[in-house]
Amino acid sequence: MSTSATPPASGAVSSSTADTNAAVRVRDLHKSYGELEVLRGIDLDVAAGEVVCLIGPSGSGKSTLLRCLNLLETPQSGSISVGGFTVTDPDLDVDAMRRRVGMVFQQFNLFPHLSVLENCTVAQVKVLKRPAAEAKRVALANLERVGLSEKADQRPAQLSGGQQQRVAIARALSMDPDLMLFDEPTSSLDPETVGDVLAIMRGLAADGMTMLVVTHEMSFARDVADRVVFMDGGVVVEQGPAREVIGSPQHQRTRTFLSRVL
Ligand code: ADP
Ligand code: MG
Repeated sequence: MSTSATPPASGAVSSSTADTNAAVRVRDLHKSYGELEVLRGIDLDVAAGEVVCLIGPSGSGKSTLLRCLNLLETPQSGSISVGGFTVTDPDLDVDAMRRRVGMVFQQFNLFPHLSVLENCTVAQVKVLKRPAAEAKRVALANLERVGLSEKADQRPAQLSGGQQQRVAIARALSMDPDLMLFDEPTSSLDPETVGDVLAIMRGLAADGMTMLVVTHEMSFARDVADRVVFMDGGVVVEQGPAREVIGSPQHQRTRTFLSRVL
C-alpha cells in the first residue's frame, strides 16, 4: 500500500493519506458493545472495482464491520478509509462520506408511505439537491435497471420481498455511489425471489461496481466475488480468491462453517 502523502485531486481527504485505488481500507479495527468485544483487530481491503464477499457464522461481527464503514457504529480504535474519506477522522464530513456509499440491508428499509419512485428520488433531492425532474429521470433509469419501472407508482407493501429489495438497490444506485455495501440482502426473501436479487447484483458486479457483500449464498460468492473473506469471532480467519477459500479452505473453522452452509 502506498503511503504517499499526495492527496487525490478531489480534495475529499480531510487528513491522513489514502490509497486512491483502495475503495475500503480497514486497519486493526476494534469495536465493543460494553464488555463484549465484537471486532478484535480487523484488517480489510477492497480495491476499486472489486467484489468482496464477507462470510462467517452468525454473531461473528459481519454486520458490525459493515456498519462501522459508514459510521452507523463508532469503533473504539483502528483506522478506516472509504473512498477518499478517512472515516475514523474526528473531522470527517459524515454526510459527504455517506453520499458515496450505498447500503442495502436485509430488511429493505423502504419508506412505507412513499411510492416506489419517491423512495428513489427523495434522497437525491434532499441530500444531493438534484432538481425533481432530474431525480425522477435517474430513479426511473435505475428502476428500469432492476426491472421495476412499471411499479414506480406503487407502495412498497404492494410488492414482494424480492421486488422491495430490488427497489432498495435502485434507491441506493440513484445516489451514484462509488461503493455498495450489502448486508445479507437475500436472507429474508422467499426462495423464489432470491434469484432475481442475485441477478441484479451479478449485473452490478459485471458493470464494475465496487461491492462488499455479506452473504450466505455460496454459489454467488464463488461465481461473482473476486475475493472471499471469512470472519469468525471478530477476526478475519482467512481470505483469498473465492474458489480457493470456498473450494479448499485452509482453516478448520472455515471448513466447519462451509460444511454447514454448502
Ligand atoms: P453478524 O452480522 O456476523 O451476525 P453482528 O455484527 O450482528 O454479527 O453481531 C456481532 C455480535 O455483536 C453479536 O454477539 C451481537 O449480539 C452483538 N451486537 C450486535 N449489535 C449490538 C448492539 N447494538 N448492542 C449490543 N450487542 C450487539
Ligand atoms: Mg449480520
